[in-house]
Amino acid sequence: MVSPKYSLVVPVYNEEKNILELYRRVSAVGEQLDGAIELIFVNDGSRDRTLQIVRDLHQNDPRVSYLSLARNFGHQIAVTAGLNFARGEVAIVMDADLQDPPELILEMVAKWQNGFQVVYAQRTQRQKESWFKRGTAYIFYRLLQHLADVDIPTDTGDFCLIDRQVLDILNAMPERNRYMRGLRAWIGFRQTSVQFDRPPRFAGNVNYTFGKSLALALNGLVSFSKVPLRLSTYVGLFAAAIAVLMALLVLYWRLFVPQSPLTGFTMILVAIFFLGAVQLVSIGILGEYVGRIYEEVKGRPIYTLAEVRGFPSHSESQTK
Ligand code: UDP
Ligand code: MG
Repeated sequence: MVSPKYSLVVPVYNEEKNILELYRRVSAVGEQLDGAIELIFVNDGSRDRTLQIVRDLHQNDPRVSYLSLARNFGHQIAVTAGLNFARGEVAIVMDADLQDPPELILEMVAKWQNGFQVVYAQRTQRQKESWFKRGTAYIFYRLLQHLADVDIPTDTGDFCLIDRQVLDILNAMPERNRYMRGLRAWIGFRQTSVQFDRPPRFAGNVNYTFGKSLALALNGLVSFSKVPLRLSTYVGLFAAAIAVLMALLVLYWRLFVPQSPLTGFTMILVAIFFLGAVQLVSIGILGEYVGRIYEEVKGRPIYTLAEVRGFPSHSESQTK
């Protein structure tokens, strides 16, 4: 097989109803591209027939290769694994549920041919997603943009095209906590966007539960911003200022007001609760960062591979 020009990386987790339709549409797009494509599926510990379907595709089409992770590692890590194996001059990351329309790849490739090294898809609208998801996503992306050290574009997901030069840098980044959108923005180079309306899922259920989305959002914030850490310093300083003011007030009342309005211990209780809350929140924030340091220093591999097929240079062994 000639070495591919375009590597499509698709993480799949319980997507048995979507894969064939995705394959059909991606093949149609492939026809219109000026070079060979490879389609890399990354099975992220699916519990349905996903892996079986992917195996069959690989048997029948040499352009299809796949990795199977040894358990469910999550979307970001599945993408990381796929990118590690991509051989093309460019890699394109997309979801399996057709929420990232394959036809947009043509537009992305056109931008790449015009000299851009990262082309990310930006959603102008989301169809059929709950107001809650849209609302929280809206707030999160804007908060992240304010707080993050790098400029992470709003309303972009993982659907993007990455040039080989950038991909090699991304693959060499050792961090285990992979918030891909942030890493992608951090790297730099010439980046641009293409706009699209995000269609609903073709079939199957959303795998990103509220809990997972929240974890991803927290990950993004903590990995790319030190503002939350500084926040506890600010709140601490503010609380200290209030304490000094209160002390002065008490002193004044004791010395100059015969009938002191300070009765009982209500005020003391309020102060204790307030300070207790501030301290707990600060410790929690600190814990988030310390936890991440812990994750990084353990130095475990980012994922484990149970099966690798369709990569001639790889020994097709059991683990990485
Ligand atoms: N996915 C994955 N591992 C997971 C959850 C999701 O590989 O633990 C894949 C999923 O198969 C899909 C993509 O990540 O291709 C996006 O997932 P989903 O459509 O559930 O999320 P959303 O559209 O809300 O971003
Ligand atoms: Mg989806």
